[in-house]
Amino acid sequence: MTDATPALVATPPGRGLYCNRTLNLRAIRAIGFDMDYTLVHYDVDAWEQRAYAYLQQKLHEHGWPVDGLAFLPQFATRGLVIDTALGNIVKADRFGYVKRVMHGTRRLEFDDQRKSYARTLVDLSDSRWVFLNTFFSLSEAVMYAQLVERLDEGQLGPMLNYSDLWQQIRRSLDLAHAEGRLKAELITQPDRYVVVDPDLPLALRDLKQSGKRLLLITNSEWSFTRAMMEHAFDRFLPGGTSWRDLFDLVIVGARKPDFFTGRPPLYEVADDAGLLRPCVGGPTARGVYFGGHADMIEQHLGLSGSEILYVGDHLYTDVKVSKDIHRWRTALIVRELEDEIALLQEARPQQKALDRLMAEKSVLEAEQAQVRLQQQRLEQGYGPTGSGPREPLDGRLARLRTRVEKLEDAIAPLAARLSVVSNAQWGPLMYAGNDRSNLASQVERYADIYTSRVSNFGFATPFAFLRAPRGRLPHDL
Ligand SMILES: [Mg+2]
Repeated sequence: MTDATPALVATPPGRGLYCNRTLNLRAIRAIGFDMDYTLVHYDVDAWEQRAYAYLQQKLHEHGWPVDGLAFLPQFATRGLVIDTALGNIVKADRFGYVKRVMHGTRRLEFDDQRKSYARTLVDLSDSRWVFLNTFFSLSEAVMYAQLVERLDEGQLGPMLNYSDLWQQIRRSLDLAHAEGRLKAELITQPDRYVVVDPDLPLALRDLKQSGKRLLLITNSEWSFTRAMMEHAFDRFLPGGTSWRDLFDLVIVGARKPDFFTGRPPLYEVADDAGLLRPCVGGPTARGVYFGGHADMIEQHLGLSGSEILYVGDHLYTDVKVSKDIHRWRTALIVRELEDEIALLQEARPQQKALDRLMAEKSVLEAEQAQVRLQQQRLEQGYGPTGSGPREPLDGRLARLRTRVEKLEDAIAPLAARLSVVSNAQWGPLMYAGNDRSNLASQVERYADIYTSRVSNFGFATPFAFLRAPRGRLPHDL
């Protein structure tokens, strides 16, 4: 008998829902979405270029020597950390050990790096460290690095240190205002900045038709939200419907993380100009609201945190606080994954070759250690191998050393090539050397699942049972 059902859709490479903590999508009754860089993706370089130009102009007005500077695409990535004490940008591993450092726009040599960070772990609860949480922080990081160089050259006056520099840049920029101004520009030419995803509207319709209630919870203002959502969705929806029909509730001006940590009041957006009316009893009809908080949403939906999934791109305001405080299920959007997975896949043969060489080296090193112990016992005259001639042991150790050195000559260039996969400065986003990056360990801790974009829910279907892989521990082989 032939199967007459339509062919099933395969998930394209890099477009999976990757699971840290087992999640049955059928048990999820409501899904909240962030908008910027979650439902609506922007061309990062174009947007950051613009943001950078704005910073530069603002700093120029405040008398900073910023002439001749230009935005450096690819210079910074999400998940890096600014060390405001030493004027560096660093990449740390999951334990907080610093693995790579840029001072200004130059990479620090290994010895200098060790000198600076031998006793220092990155601790994000300390205000010395500034974590680059979103794409919005990249232009600022570039500007800081460039001004660190100007400070080193003596162009900023003798009284300023790296930490003052950071504080002062922050102070001369009203970031909220900057974002507002950029967004006003963006409304006038969305084609230039917004990267539309034709698969996205259908993925949301699938979720909605499966009985889940969809919510939009964004910090953006109503006028911007409306323009972006219309641009990204309406052309792909059936005639006579709009993005508004997808969502049970729209909350703009949500002021996350306060939305999750506090109890701000809720307003109703009364007209398209954004006029607000107090809304005392909580949301009642399918409308557009401003402000409010997570408890109110749980109450309105009659659901508990474990039945609500929140999807966003900001590790702290979207994912960490919603998980920590409300135990909502969480999904992090990591757009960079698609390129990163493809590049790591391409580098797979080299990675395998490196793994083989490293395994060989480990065997030789273990042998060296055994021979050294025999030498020690011989020299000091104790234990079962405490007597006999010394020369055979010396000879064996020398031969082992030669073989290890030969292996190291093969390993070094291979490791160097692999360490710049996906970003020439920083290497892969989710790895720091051989280990997980600081970013990856936070993703693991706070995001139940992570994926490159929201439309990937369409490939997984609303009925997916996502299982976390069994954890690998050092003794598992
Ligand atoms: Mg966002």
